Amino acid sequence: MDELIRAISADGFIKMTAVSTREMTEKARNIHRTLPVVTAALGRTMAAVSMLGSELKRDGASITVRINGGGPAGTILVTSDNHGNVRGYVQNPEVDIPLKPNGKLDVSGAVGTDGMLTVIRDLGYGEPYNGSVELVTGEIAEDFAQYLHESEQIASAVALGVLVDRDQSVIASGGYIAELLPGAPDDTIDRLEENIKKAGYITPMFRECTAEEVIRRVLDGFEPEILERDEIAYKCYCSRGKILGSLMGIDRNEIRTMLREDKKIEVRCRYCGEVYNYTEADFPEI
Ligand SMILES: [Zn+2]
Repeated sequence: MDELIRAISADGFIKMTAVSTREMTEKARNIHRTLPVVTAALGRTMAAVSMLGSELKRDGASITVRINGGGPAGTILVTSDNHGNVRGYVQNPEVDIPLKPNGKLDVSGAVGTDGMLTVIRDLGYGEPYNGSVELVTGEIAEDFAQYLHESEQIASAVALGVLVDRDQSVIASGGYIAELLPGAPDDTIDRLEENIKKAGYITPMFRECTAEEVIRRVLDGFEPEILERDEIAYKCYCSRGKILGSLMGIDRNEIRTMLREDKKIEVRCRYCGEVYNYTEADFPEI
């Protein structure tokens, strides 16, 4: 089970969210047949978007993040509902590039560094709100931290990690956002930085720790209080009706031609891989 945990330090100056996401990352890998470096890029993005999505209050609200850094993986698109359940895809799932000299997956090499991270918040009424920042490293975590800083004036530490096994399955996946609230004294900031350094790399941490243990490690000495604990998952909201609705935007002549040639129109949901078939009976106006 994947979970999302939210906590606050006893002094009230640090808000922290952590997610364990092994199952959703493995599910995404199976749906999209991603190779390891893309599994990592998509998994990191899903962990971050899940945490941002879970902050939305209203049912039906969603947040979508698009990352396009000009690298071989192409566009990454991830959407979360207001409970932190996510779905997503990558334009080119089969990117195979060498590991970095330190033996780690070269996520920035796959994503690229020349482009934007765009966040689209749909609060369920009115126009969606958009914010964009230029990518900093293409490693995803730093790029989200930059987005929070520039677009939302939030000072935060963001860590995201995915560990892939030799057989390409996901061993561990997760992340955290530690947010400094206004008025945090220098001493708090210094101690938090020290803790983050001491806690070490995020990926091995998620191999041995639950999301709550990650929070207790990073907020060691801050006496965190757990505020929220939710189960999260890879979740698609597609349906026969919704996909049929999207076909209504296609030129009628094109629909006619497809129906004449194949007797049906087959559409595969790009988030979850579900296949829907439509026949003449679905288009009474034709
Ligand atoms: Zn779907």
